Amino acid sequence: MQICDLPLEEYEKKIVEFHGSMAPGLIIGGFMVDLIVKNLPKDRFYDVICESMKCLPDAIQLLTPCSIGNGWLKIVKIGRFAMTFFDKETGDGLRAYLDTEKIKKYPAVNEWFFKLTPKHEQDADKLFETIRAAGAEIISLQKVKVDTSITRKKKGSKIAVCAKCNESYPGTESGNLCKVCSGAVIYYT
Ligand code: ZN
Repeated sequence: MQICDLPLEEYEKKIVEFHGSMAPGLIIGGFMVDLIVKNLPKDRFYDVICESMKCLPDAIQLLTPCSIGNGWLKIVKIGRFAMTFFDKETGDGLRAYLDTEKIKKYPAVNEWFFKLTPKHEQDADKLFETIRAAGAEIISLQKVKVDTSITRKKKGSKIAVCAKCNESYPGTESGNLCKVCSGAVIYYT
């Protein structure tokens, strides 16, 4: 069994290296990326929108050239277990999502996904086995047209220097305050 030309065991090793631990969501995410890539024309480049913050972005970053840092992967916080690969010129895309009907055929996966059993009562080995056996069977594909205006980079945004901390931030005029100094965002004391 292969995920984007990687033997599944190799992909699982990479998960542990990159993500820190084996995660069921990352294996499913790998099957999602693989299924989309198999169904897209080979000679194009794609941007990706991920609808979940959890697990899926790491599967995309492990298996494709798209990362948060290079801007080819965007996260839209919807919380659905889904991702869309699309052509950034035309918006033509393919979306993969966890199919809540199909997952019913795999009770171990269903129970884990919907948190029906407390984590300490779950049989992790059985869960991973079932996920591997299910492969892409719990995923569905959908053709979509992406509104590319939501992912296009804003050009020409200016960089200002904050009057209080003297650090740079996106702004039009230096001498104003960054979001921390103005109190709009507080994440440390
Ligand atoms: Zn500041």
